[in-house]
Parts: sequence; structure tokens; C-alpha cells
Amino acid sequence: MDELRYTSTRGNGAEVTSAQAIKQGLADDGGLFMPLDIPLIADDTLVELCKMSYAERAAHVLGLFLTDYSHDELLSDCIAAYGEDRFPGGAAPIKGLGDSIRVLELWHGPTCAFKDMALQIMPKLLSRALTKTGEMRKAMILVATSGDTGKAALEGYRDAAGISIKVFYPTGGVSRIQKLQMASQEGNNVSVTAIRGNFDDAQNGVKRIFSDADFAAELNEAGCFLSSANSINWGRLAPQIVYYISAYCDMINAGDILLGEEIDVCVPTGNFGNIFAAYIAKCMGLPINKLICASNSNNILTDFLATGTYDRNRKFYTTMSPSMDILISSNLERLLYVTAGSDKTAGWMKELSEKGVYSVDDETKTMLQRSFEGFYCDEASTQAAIKRIFDTYGYLIDTHTAVAMHCAEQYLEQNPSKRHMLVVSTASPYKFAASVLDAVSDEKPGDDFETIDTLCRVTGAAVPAPLASLKDKKVRFDTVINADEMKADVAAFGGIKA
Ligand SMILES: *Cc1c(COP(=O)(O)O)cnc(C)c1O
Repeated sequence: MDELRYTSTRGNGAEVTSAQAIKQGLADDGGLFMPLDIPLIADDTLVELCKMSYAERAAHVLGLFLTDYSHDELLSDCIAAYGEDRFPGGAAPIKGLGDSIRVLELWHGPTCAFKDMALQIMPKLLSRALTKTGEMRKAMILVATSGDTGKAALEGYRDAAGISIKVFYPTGGVSRIQKLQMASQEGNNVSVTAIRGNFDDAQNGVKRIFSDADFAAELNEAGCFLSSANSINWGRLAPQIVYYISAYCDMINAGDILLGEEIDVCVPTGNFGNIFAAYIAKCMGLPINKLICASNSNNILTDFLATGTYDRNRKFYTTMSPSMDILISSNLERLLYVTAGSDKTAGWMKELSEKGVYSVDDETKTMLQRSFEGFYCDEASTQAAIKRIFDTYGYLIDTHTAVAMHCAEQYLEQNPSKRHMLVVSTASPYKFAASVLDAVSDEKPGDDFETIDTLCRVTGAAVPAPLASLKDKKVRFDTVINADEMKADVAAFGGIKA
């Protein structure tokens, strides 16, 4: 097979292998890496995939994009990433609600949210990328987290060859469960430190360290370089394409659809990574009719898809679906590139960074609207959707999934059809237990663990094992420092003096 090469969405022209794209993360011109061609998936391949396990499907689909990785490498990594021990009961199971709605549950991994789908495999791909590119140094992943991403990254990178990971979280604004999840992290290459302050303090500290050239030189001498677990890395996006193809196979196997039959897909969206992966699957030939882009009150994407104008100069809302509280959806740049090319994309990104707003031309807008439609869901409708789905089907969903459910219903009201609607579920309801409990009952939430117990008693929904076992986990990391001590902390972890 010919090697698939990658290039920047902003058109600097340099072409790299998939291993280089994964190692580098961002292109030199600030753009994101995209493959030069999108491989197609033929009907007879889909028939073959239908007979396979999730890990085998993942190895096949990833192999179409990561052509400098061997099938054996990918298969052994996918088996390790998506096995029963990491994803009990299967990596991406589907629940049926009534005749036409199918829910794709992406939260059966170690942190009970969909980031695990990419972060369980991405570190393995990065480890191999270091070898493939002849990198002699070790990578140190540096993360500032407000909670969920840090834990998912720690779980993904623990014990990854040639890589270590350091996570900073703020003492303010992280829940007791999130704190305990990180403080009890296992693995021989991990380190977690709390920062006195809020998320911005932790984030700014990490940014300062990343931009410190002298420090980078010192680390380099010690045989180490800093890297981020950023969500725009192609190594995080490619694994997300898999579950759309896998879901389609499972729907065929369940007798929901016939091979070739179109479905609609609704995705709760923040950074536009998950829904963009669905779009790639559509470009590969997977029979997807419309992609419904579901937003919460931060409905910048709803407006963009309706008007063609992306305007971040607006109020920012803190909602009960916090992973979607985003005003800059980084992966949208990839869609613009695929639709309108690198010249226009580079121009729009420049306008976005300088003025916070850009408008695409009518031709581009029309092309986008052919595949995408945006809807949004406010706070009251989010809670109403949780209650309605629970009352109707006895099925409990989290706040992010509720946003998608509401938007899917809006779409179906305006576009009645016999097509199946695949609604993507991105977190266990127990991850957002207080909001979910408030939606389905009059009982008052207590502390994190009490709320989980109450929600379980009221609804009878099973508590995922990683949350249920958390109370008994041993705390390994209890250091608290000031933000100005972060560099020394990283230096010590990297084995040098700051
Ligand atoms: C990250 C996240 C999202 C948003 O996904 P994007 O790929 O950023 O669009 C939605 N729901 C949950 C629970 C998440 O963690």
C-alpha cells in the first residue's frame, strides 16, 4: 500500500508521515495535520468488519490512516487498549431506545467518559512514533487540567514506553472525586501535583514552562522533551473514526439496518473532534445522511452552521455540560480545510485570532450545510431531556448526552424520516451525578460519593466500576505547591535541577 502523507491545514506545503504528525502534534505553521487523501471503505470491507471484534475493527481502520504502522503493531496496541480489562462489556456498545434511536455509549473506559476512546490508544501510537522517527529522547507530557482530561491522560499514558506524564490540577474547582481519581493514579511514569489557585493559574504555569527556551535546552541535555496531550493531535482524532464504523457494523448485526442504508448521527460537541471524526467516516463512504452538531448554551457552532459567521465575541456560559463549554472549536479548522482548502482556511484562522470573528463564503457555507446541521439545548431543556428519557425508557443519560438527545429530537421533529438516529453518549451519568439526580428526583445531593449512592438508589442504574472502587484507592500524590514552583517541580520529575 502507498504511504499516506500528512500536511498542514494552513498550507505550508511540508508533508510528513503519520508517525511524524503524531509526534509533532501541531504543524510548524500553527495548522493541524490532515491526511492528503481520505481512504475509502468498500461495502465488502464493511461486511468483513461486521465479523470482527472492536480491537480488530480499530486495527483495520487505523491501518488505513497510519500506513507507516504495521497491522501487527496496530492490532497488538488495539487489543491492549480496548480489551475487557480496560472496557468491561465492550468498548462502544449500542443501546436501543424505541424503533429508531440508537445510543452509542462511549464511556465504558477507565474514566467513564469518551476521551478514553482516544487516550487509551494514542500513547501507544506516540511511543511507536518516537521509535519510528528515530527519537532518542524521552517525551514528558505536561498537562494542566480542570479535572477530566488530566485523569484520562494519566490513565492513557501510564507505563507507556519512552514517555512520562506530569499533571497539575488546581486546588480550587476540582471535585472531590476528580481529586481522588488523580491522587490515586497508578503507574511508574506518572506524577500529579496540586497548585494553589484556580485552573487559569495551573494553565498559565504550564504555558510558561512550554515557552521557556532555556528550560527546554536543559531538558534536552537531560535527554527529555516536553509534549502535550492536546486534543488536536491526529493520534487522538484517528481512533475516533473507528467507533462510527464499528457502530454501523453493530447496527447491521443487530438487524437495525441493511448494508448501505443511511443513518443520521447526532454528536454533543465542544472542540469539534468527535463530530469531525464522524464526518471523516462519512467521507470514507460510511452511509451517513446528516451530522447533527449538538451544542449547549455556548451555541457558537449552531450560529456558524446556520449563518456562515463564526463569532467568538459573545458571552461565555458555565453549564451543567462543562466539557462543551468552549468558544473556540479547534478541530473545525480541519473541516474548513477539507471543504475550502488551505488558503481560505489560513485566512479565516488569521481573522479569528486577530478579530475573533470570520465569515465563510456562500459556496463553503452551502457545502457545510449539505452534511451538517446545528442545534442547541439550554439548561432547562438539558434537565428535561434527562427526565423524559428516564421516564420513557428507564434509561439514564448524562448532561452532555442529554444535550445531544434534545437536539436529535429537534432535528427529527423538523425532518421526519424512517432513518435510524445514532445519538453519541459521551459520559456516564454518574460522572455528573448531582445534575442528573436533580433532573430525575427531588432528593438532595450530598458530597460526591453520597450523591452517587443516592442516584443509584433512586434510578437503579449500575455504578461504573472505576467510580465504585474509588473510595478504597490509596492516595499516592498529595503534594500542594504554589504556581511559581511548577518549573522546579517539572525539573525534579525530569531528573534535573531548575
Ligand atoms: C470532550 C467532551 C465532549 C466534546 O467532544 P469534542 O470532541 O471536544 O467535540 C462532549 N462530552 C464529553 C463528556 C466530553 O468529555
